[in-house]
Amino acid sequence: MTSGKPMKILVAGGGPAGLFFSIIAKRAVPAAAIHVRERNPQGVTYGWGVAFSESAADALRPAAPDVIGALTANTRHDRMVISLDGVGVPVQVGGSHLNARWSLLATLEKFALEAGVVIEHECEATVTDSDLADWDLVIGADGVNSLTRERFAERFRPSVELGGNWMAWYGTPKPYPPSIILQNSEHGVLMVHASGFSAGMSNFTVEVGQETFDRLGFADMTEDESRELCERLFADSLEGAPLRSNHSPWFQTKFVSCARWTHRNLVLIGDALHTVHPSIGSGTRFAMRDAVYLTQALSGAGWDVEVGLKEFERVRKPVADAFQAAAKRSIAWYEGLPSRTITHPTKFALEYLMRTGRVSYRDFRRENREVVLGYERDLR
Ligand SMILES: Cc1cc2nc3c(=O)[nH]c(=O)nc-3n(C[C@H](O)[C@H](O)[C@H](O)COP(=O)(O)OP(=O)(O)OC[C@H]3O[C@@H](n4cnc5c(N)ncnc54)[C@H](O)[C@@H]3O)c2cc1C
Repeated sequence: MTSGKPMKILVAGGGPAGLFFSIIAKRAVPAAAIHVRERNPQGVTYGWGVAFSESAADALRPAAPDVIGALTANTRHDRMVISLDGVGVPVQVGGSHLNARWSLLATLEKFALEAGVVIEHECEATVTDSDLADWDLVIGADGVNSLTRERFAERFRPSVELGGNWMAWYGTPKPYPPSIILQNSEHGVLMVHASGFSAGMSNFTVEVGQETFDRLGFADMTEDESRELCERLFADSLEGAPLRSNHSPWFQTKFVSCARWTHRNLVLIGDALHTVHPSIGSGTRFAMRDAVYLTQALSGAGWDVEVGLKEFERVRKPVADAFQAAAKRSIAWYEGLPSRTITHPTKFALEYLMRTGRVSYRDFRRENREVVLGYERDLR
């Protein structure tokens, strides 16, 4: 850009981080050539619905009001049900919108194409030194298992911690409000995060600790066998509805952070750079916020890549670190559940909502007066 030639930007990975960056960067510098390389065919992705909180939408809206408008036009919830052994406590929570992950990506892709971004599907992006020489700016947005991060690991010095719990991300046609379902069972504690994301489908993410995972023998089962066993384990809640898979193997979450964020003209963003945790339902927003901070830093530097990337890390890191610290508290809370005895559903709801330290008892009491009064009466 500074040499007067149109800038060339390569984006490895067409997830929320890579696509949102491409849209807002192309709008900011229409002359730039922006190429996204995505390994999946168009319309193919893992997972089911993702939550997008209203506060996330508010934070992202100024960067692209039309895009955020499209992502918040769908299913909206502002109540949640937190259940312990079949007793549900409905609570008021901040509003959130849910989109199927495939439609969220299709929406972002549509805006990217309209802006003039080139998207190559079924294209493996293995960023090399010659890519760094050929492109003015290279963005590693290739997700939690980023090959870009691993290829330049000496420079980024990543830390990847494996979660102690196991998760499987299913869908179900049963309509669920956003729900946390905890069941004490003879096999140990069984947990589910469920939430409707379209008229006909809900997420149903099962989470269990290592001991329960071993006792149930999930490690030796096929994806279908695991799904069928989960249908039986949660039969009361599912009331006959099936569970469905979409590349839904058991996995342990990876908590990623990097000591350095850039290498020459290469920068990581989104899950490739740092993750939160599915239990706080904010990874998409976290990834898209990286895109906004990066574009702002580059714009502020007149698209001087060296200056802009330094500024991105300087401004974004403290905010991202604080968010990751909240996610760590959520992970610790979930991983501690199997070793504790919780018998009161409202106490469970309270603990759940306060687990990251971002909601206080006073906040909870203000939003859920009747629920809390009932609980305080029970304690007397
Ligand atoms: C069970 C579960 C539930 C979740 N629920 C929520 C939720 O409710 N709300 C929320 O905000 N977030 C949620 N998340 C997190 C969210 O999905 C991620 O944080 C978010 O997708 C990160 O975006 P990203 O663009 O950085 O990475 P990704 O979405 O992973 O995108 C990376 C892209 O890069 C592509 N890619 C990877 N390697 C290559 C390569 N070598 N070459 C080319 N392409 C490549 C991938 O195919 C993918 O399309 C959840 C995650 C899980 C696992």
